[in-house]
Amino acid sequence: MSRIVMKFGGTSVADLARIRHAARHVQREVKAGNQIAVVVSAMAGVTNQLVEWCNEASPLHEAREYDAVVSTGEQVSAGLLAIVLQDMGISARSFTGWQVPITTTERHGAARITDVESADLDKRLSDGQVCVITGFQGISPSGRITTLGRGGSDTSAVALAAAVEADRCDIYTDVDGGYTTDPRIAPKAQRLSRISFEEMLELASLGAKVLQTRSVELAMAKGVRLAVRSSFDDPQGPQTAPDGSNSGVPGTLVCDEDEIMEKQIVSGVTLVKSEAKITIRSVKDRPGVAASVFGALAEQQIVVDMIVQNVSDDGRQTDITFTVPDSEYEKAMAAVRGNGERFEYASISGAKGCAKISVVGVGMRSHAGVASSMFSALAEKGINIQLITTSEIKTSVLIDEEYAELAVRALHTYYGLDKEED
Ligand code: ASP
Ligand code: MG
Repeated sequence: MSRIVMKFGGTSVADLARIRHAARHVQREVKAGNQIAVVVSAMAGVTNQLVEWCNEASPLHEAREYDAVVSTGEQVSAGLLAIVLQDMGISARSFTGWQVPITTTERHGAARITDVESADLDKRLSDGQVCVITGFQGISPSGRITTLGRGGSDTSAVALAAAVEADRCDIYTDVDGGYTTDPRIAPKAQRLSRISFEEMLELASLGAKVLQTRSVELAMAKGVRLAVRSSFDDPQGPQTAPDGSNSGVPGTLVCDEDEIMEKQIVSGVTLVKSEAKITIRSVKDRPGVAASVFGALAEQQIVVDMIVQNVSDDGRQTDITFTVPDSEYEKAMAAVRGNGERFEYASISGAKGCAKISVVGVGMRSHAGVASSMFSALAEKGINIQLITTSEIKTSVLIDEEYAELAVRALHTYYGLDKEED
């Protein structure tokens, strides 16, 4: 017997037929003797509609009322799933965030969970009742309904799993797991059967949008094992892992590094397009200059990604290069130019239309030469590298957007990630 939190995203509860299908996944787990808590998103498209209505009602609406409105979608799907489960003869009841209660900060629209009251849930789960809980929402210390930010029900599910000490948190979605890269770019992309929290975090934040980044951070902090799996699978079909291991989970298991036997050096390749590069030449090489350059950008709420500063031969002047999203390019140029009195520079230049390609893998910690092999693989295809940054488990390069897909496919093949022809 296990205690499992099952989370169903918007497309998995999009209409009554899908809710019935989701219910059969729950039924399978209940029949297997497991204790089940379910977390649901709003039916697909509903939250968008609710957000639109708030904006139409008044563009400057109060965030507290925004939360009162946009949290409602989840209440509908939780209630409907509970009804369907009851109809199947399964003991079930719905909970909104405040009924649990899931306490959050006061930051409406982007609240953080601070506490989950688990005693009542714990008792009900032990008694075999399925608790269906609304994702995405909670209650603030002053008693108002809050929401966690878009995509927040993944985080609700992880927080609940931690609170009730679940053995696993299964995230049911419309894809069947995490992939080595985007299959639309590299048809030979493979589903990962296991991946570490750290790698998933890098892949999530780099644009492989399977899980909300914050939910992975929380899962890592609390040690909640996550499984990403498809709700579109046959609920009564075989439930074995793709790697044949007896983890019992089809899809991708996101877990501690220690649980992964065969560690790949590189687990995934990611791509972020529409990046712009800006270079400021001959700024003074003295303390405080970088702080004022990036201070000027931060004041304009511009998020900077890669940053490279050159060494200066003479200790007097240096060049700084950084990247921002294409959409922020003009604003960033203006922010630098408008601050000439805070830092002197000789010239500023830049270009849009770059792409950031990253290779991610915990194996990099213990294997030398990943960066150099990445550069040779790109050189073989004649792709020029404009910028390089690295972290413990990731190496990223900035290249011309035109070669982005080619680079992803080349690296995917180079690191042996291509699936075998069947
Ligand atoms: N329904 C919310 C949204 O669409 C939360 C979620 O789906 O995770 O953002
Ligand atoms: Mg979602």
